[in-house]
Amino acid sequence: MKFPLVPAYYFSDIYAIDLACLRARGVKLLLADLDNTLVPYGVAEPNHQVRAWKAALEAAGITLFILSNSRRPGRAQRFAQALGVPYEGHAGKPKRGGFQRAMARMGVTPEETAIVGDQIFTDTWGGNNAGVLTLLVHPIRFGTVFRFLRFALETPFRAGAQKGETL
Ligand SMILES: [Mg+2]
Repeated sequence: MKFPLVPAYYFSDIYAIDLACLRARGVKLLLADLDNTLVPYGVAEPNHQVRAWKAALEAAGITLFILSNSRRPGRAQRFAQALGVPYEGHAGKPKRGGFQRAMARMGVTPEETAIVGDQIFTDTWGGNNAGVLTLLVHPIRFGTVFRFLRFALETPFRAGAQKGETL
């Protein structure tokens, strides 16, 4: 069994993930962290690049679901509704519950599910707890010293991941 803080794969950003390969592995549901994974903190609406990515996922036969820990009222809801995808805010990652609720809602198993996110201690740890495929991406931007220090702390775990492109 893999160490729970080590992601399966590490990508530069969400656009580097080969969606056809992901679907070929059996993934039907992609859970996505919001802040610093899809857009930077504070960006309320999906940009055209994120919208195009969501369309590409759909075309590949993969449903996108936003699983966010954001405590800002309405943040995940507004973003997800603008993008036209299901979501859960206050998801409580790395606890398993949010992952399990999302999979139950969408009618899929852990084997059919992946999580993409920028943080080891929430997205990767939670995904490994829930038994789903864990995809780590580089944070879009740090913005604060705290986020940079957290990123530095994650370094040994990131180093254990396979570098993307070969899902
Ligand atoms: Mg994040």
